Order: sequence, then structure tokens, then C-alpha cells
Amino acid sequence: MTPAELKLAADGGRAVAPEAKPGPVAAMSLRGMTVSYGEKPAIFSVDADFEQGAMTAIIGPNGAGKSTLLKAALDIVPRVSGEVRVHGQPLERARGRMAYVPQRASVDWDFPTRVIDVVMMGLYRELGLLGRIRGHHRDAAQDALDRVGMADFAHRQIGQLSGGQQQRVFLARALAQAADLYLLDEPFAGVDAATEAAIIDVLKTLKTEGKSVVAVHHDLTTVQSYFDRVLLLNVRRIAEGPVRTAFTSDTLAATYGGRLAAAQIEQLELGGAV
Ligand code: ADP
Ligand code: MG
Repeated sequence: MTPAELKLAADGGRAVAPEAKPGPVAAMSLRGMTVSYGEKPAIFSVDADFEQGAMTAIIGPNGAGKSTLLKAALDIVPRVSGEVRVHGQPLERARGRMAYVPQRASVDWDFPTRVIDVVMMGLYRELGLLGRIRGHHRDAAQDALDRVGMADFAHRQIGQLSGGQQQRVFLARALAQAADLYLLDEPFAGVDAATEAAIIDVLKTLKTEGKSVVAVHHDLTTVQSYFDRVLLLNVRRIAEGPVRTAFTSDTLAATYGGRLAAAQIEQLELGGAV
């Protein structure tokens, strides 16, 4: 009798899957995530495992629940059900290891704030509400701005910057937190080519440092060059895995339905039938 059969017998013959070998702990695991703003769920029973040290794209049509999934994972919106684990720990214990860059369009840019203050706001968890800003906080913020090529803009008003520059500042705010897991919502939306290159550079550096990156991504043509893994989402999880196997014409068709022309899919030069 094999050990698996033995376990089956010990369990009274119930169909028990043989123990899977424990893999590396995921940077973030989601189980049964359901969020509903009204009657219809925005995401329904989504399971996902985001690998450590990998860059994962979350892909799906408008309204698929991509932003909702990130917000639910961060406890920004309440969930009907679901469990989040970050490096194997419950969210409450691991929140400090996560940094979030919201969708740029969702931020009020008229708020009069200097760039350096926006970045230091990312440190509030460390500072506490009444904590004093000290020299090393300012240094961390300035260093983060340097990493995104915005060192010279520290004292400008955030509202006066271009979209691409604002996006870099928000990335700097996440970097200043020295997190292990970075969640970004459409970081390349509406930014110039130089900013896109600068951001991807920073993200790839994070990866080489063993950090994990999860980004909602809208541009299907750059998925293969930017990302290691994908999660295709349309309210439910449609597919998940390495780009090579999970990002196919079949999974794209299943995710986008008629909204993605066969010609567009063909341009991506993927495997699978259209
Ligand atoms: P995506 O980021 O994939 O475009 P979202 O997560 O923003 O999708 O939205 C998913 C669905 O939930 C959409 O139908 C959207 O209209 C709805 N939704 C998102 N945020 C809210 C909200 N705050 N209140 C009500 N409905 C919302
Ligand atoms: Mg969104």
C-alpha cells in the first residue's frame, strides 16, 4: 500500500487527495474572494496565488473586477467572503509588507501637496499618526524619488506634474515603504514612453531583489515582455499561471469574449486556436 492509499484507508475510504508537496509560500494567496457593491458580485469566488519574486499581470476587460480584487486584497473594500494570506500570514499581520499604487485616475490631484510629502505619506504606518518626521524618513523619501528619476521635483506641487510624473511619484511612495509585495493598478495607463520604461525598470529591479509585483495591466501587447505570470479575470478567475501557458488565444477569448477581435489576438502571436 502506498502512503497515499494508507491515508485514504485511514480516512475511512473518503476520497482524500494525496498530500501535495508543499511548494514555496506564495507572496499572496487569495481564496474564495467575493465582493459585491450591489446585487451582482464584482468578483466571485476568486482563488489566486501570486508567486514570490515574480511579476504577475492581472488582465481582463473594463469592469472585470481587477481594481476590486486589489482593493479587497488590501481590505480597502469589504468582501462578502474570502481569505487573504501574505507570505503565509493573515492580512492583519502582513499589511506592513504590502505597498499599493492606486489607479491614477482615482486620485484627487488638486489637493495642494508637495511631491516629497506625498512620498512621506507612504511612511505613515511607520510614523504613526502623531509621529515626528525625522531625517531618515526624509532621506528614504528622497532616495525613493531618486530611484524613479524624480529627485529634482521634491518641492513641486503634485498637481502641477504631468500624468507620467505623478505616476512616478506614486511609485516612489510605494518604494519608500520598503515592502515585499507591490500591488499596482494600471501603472502604465496614460503615461509617456519614458515613464513606462522607467517604471518597468524599477519593477524589474524589485524582482531581482526577490520582491513580488502584481500589476493590473491593460496593454496586451506588452504582457509577454513585462510579466512572468498572468491572472485572467472576468468577475471569476478565467486562467492563472506562467505567461507562456496561461496567456493564450483561448484564455483571452474566454476572458474578453467578443470584445477582443480575433485579429487582435492573432497579432500577439500566441499558441492555441483562435
Ligand atoms: P476593473 O478595474 O476591472 O475595470 P472594477 O473593479 O473597477 O473593474 O469594477 C468592477 C465592477 O464593480 C464594475 O461593474 C464597477 O462598475 C463596479 N464598481 C466598482 N467600484 C464600485 C463602487 N465603489 N460602487 C459601486 N460599484 C462599483
Ligand atoms: Mg480598474
